[in-house]
Amino acid sequence: MSVPILDLSRSFKSIRPEVEEALQKILDNQNFILGQEVKSFEKHAANYLEIPETNAISCASGTDALLLALMALDVKADDEIITTPFTFFATSGTIARLGAKPVFVDVEPDTYNINLNQVVDKITAKTKIFLPVHLFGQMTPLENIKNELDARNIKIVEDAAQAFGTHRMINGKITRAGTVGAIGCYSFFPTKNLGGCGDGGMCVTHDENLAERLKKLRVHGSGATYFHDEVGINSRLDTIQATILDIKLKHLENWNAQRRKLADNYKILFAASGLEEFLTTPRELEGNYHIYHQYVIKVYERRDELMKYLDGLNIATRVYYPLALHLQPCFKYLGYKAGDFPEAEKLTSEVLALPIFPELKFSEQEELVNAIKKFFRV
Ligand SMILES: *Cc1c(COP(=O)(O)O)cnc(C)c1O
Repeated sequence: MSVPILDLSRSFKSIRPEVEEALQKILDNQNFILGQEVKSFEKHAANYLEIPETNAISCASGTDALLLALMALDVKADDEIITTPFTFFATSGTIARLGAKPVFVDVEPDTYNINLNQVVDKITAKTKIFLPVHLFGQMTPLENIKNELDARNIKIVEDAAQAFGTHRMINGKITRAGTVGAIGCYSFFPTKNLGGCGDGGMCVTHDENLAERLKKLRVHGSGATYFHDEVGINSRLDTIQATILDIKLKHLENWNAQRRKLADNYKILFAASGLEEFLTTPRELEGNYHIYHQYVIKVYERRDELMKYLDGLNIATRVYYPLALHLQPCFKYLGYKAGDFPEAEKLTSEVLALPIFPELKFSEQEELVNAIKKFFRV
């Protein structure tokens, strides 16, 4: 038997006829860029996220969503943006791409998200944006810092690339990741909880003016065709991706609920496994609805050896992320060194992402946990 890290074909089976029919229609219509299907998906996404219907702006990738968001908030060279060193590269890559400076803050060891208590200390006169990530599908409790940032006129851009559908109870209201700050950014990369059949992304905002700006920026900064108010980029979602995402959006709540069931089951299996001296399961913050984009445990010792052992049994695991961003060669010029962010650095040697996707079987989870027990001779 083998256990895959992710098997997209299992969920595609359930929507294949609907997707095939929709694609046929697009091929008949030959209207590929920003067509009706894109508007429809944007509207449904906005309704789902509970933002104004015209304020979901789709684009070509999650990376572009971040780039567009920072451009829409006038990020310029030498602006400072406070963010996490423990995330996918794009979070900081887009900051650097605009000539701005990523200013890192360490993470919390149990949620893997940025430590909000350390953010205010890093604010300077140049700080323009706070860019947190809702990592692995768990929301950062931004309400704890929002007022303090508002008072200093620092805008929040949420990297919700791994968190479309995640929510949190804030003041008694269910609040979706990506809708707390000035702009929320999502990715529809195929492996994300809501993933297309190619690249895709989206920005959302409550602010009509920002929405209009984002719409211009994704088409070379043009308002009326061939007339340019500013220099934007070319970043649009195509109708094929939009159609597929629109179909998948209807299933997302079920799929995320299924991931949560599997996460519960992992927790039960590990609690009964006698492995507590070797590893720990992820913590879900009070009030959070974690959608387990990844199920990431911490293995205190011999993580890489365990991974190899599991691989030999055809059980796939992954390390997100093996090198913190402040230690990446491309960010050497920022002047950080090993030891600057001890929690993030420790995580890079401990984290292990286990298979999780809606159609993963309980029997596959059992096989995995039993294999880990064997490795540690428990
Ligand atoms: C996937 C991801 C991105 C980038 O999204 P793409 O669609 O791959 O460009 C950005 N940030 C985080 C945290 C991600 O996981």
